[in-house]
Amino acid sequence: RTVTEEKLMVAVRVRPLRNDEGPRIVHVVSDKMLVLEEEADSRRDVLRQRRLNDKHYVYDRVFGEDSTQEDVYDTVCAPLVGDTLRGFAGAVFAYGATGAGKTHTMTGLMSRALNHLFTSIAESEHKSHEVKMSYIEIYNENIRDLLNPSAGTLELRDEGGSGAPVVAGLSEVRATSAAHVAELLARGDRARTAEPTHANQHSSRGHALLSVTVSTEVEGGVQRGRLFLIDLAGSERAGLRARRLEGAHINRSLLALGNCIMALSGGARYVNYRDSKLTRLLREVLGGRCRTAMVAHVAPGHAHRETTRSTLHYAQKASSI
Ligand code: ADP
Ligand code: MG
Repeated sequence: RTVTEEKLMVAVRVRPLRNDEGPRIVHVVSDKMLVLEEEADSRRDVLRQRRLNDKHYVYDRVFGEDSTQEDVYDTVCAPLVGDTLRGFAGAVFAYGATGAGKTHTMTGLMSRALNHLFTSIAESEHKSHEVKMSYIEIYNENIRDLLNPSAGTLELRDEGGSGAPVVAGLSEVRATSAAHVAELLARGDRARTAEPTHANQHSSRGHALLSVTVSTEVEGGVQRGRLFLIDLAGSERAGLRARRLEGAHINRSLLALGNCIMALSGGARYVNYRDSKLTRLLREVLGGRCRTAMVAHVAPGHAHRETTRSTLHYAQKASSI
């Protein structure tokens, strides 16, 4: 499998059922397929209706509730870390409603990815690798530096040419070891949730983007690989039909990401990346020759049927890229 063969890998992770969310309506039937049980009309033949109505979804990979952080890392993220060391860009997105398990997954991926990077570098012959990281939050289209929160709102600037836009004044911290990175990430996560009011709401509406850049001195220059690990805002207000339904409450970046994914999946010649900060920042990974993975998260209980359905549908659209 080469970098260009498969652009977007789409996985779904089902988190464990909690006892306050009703009976299970999501059933993982294989490592590529799950079934969403539909509500049956009790006046009719319930079993027959179920067979007719239950919806099967197929993805590149389905992680059931017994899946471990290692399973997800090995399948979804490890190949991209290899790409980063070879000078390519890659990204992993966590998508899903608030409470579906995005942060749980991304926390596991972030620490494993950086451990993997430092281990590979220690074993490699090139001792000239340099690892830099930045960690930002996009909240209401404002960019904040999670490693330097007192800097306030940062601007996104196009530097001209075809290069990626630059976040002006963003701190890029040189990371020296996995322990050092763990400390930086913990500091960033505290900044993410340290809002005085509505801490939970805040973190569920903001996107957190960790960017890790690996520079390697090679003959004739410097090779630069980049990995983005993105914990997206809760998708409950930004399903595919959100534009019509919710006017002011939609999350602009999440909607723009969805629109880009729809355009890419439909093979559109023109994809509008300019609509949001998130899509501007991620243009190179969304439309470029690099591998991207999306892990869509769902809760398995009846109480979350509508958000689960909308997430599964979104992920299915994304699968056709
Ligand atoms: P989100 O970031 O999507 O809002 P969280 O990652 O915070 O959701 O998960 C919500 C709760 O469910 C947390 O208490 C988290 O620890 C738990 N959880 C999520 N996914 C899993 C999982 N795969 N295994 C065990 N607990 C999980
Ligand atoms: Mg979260």
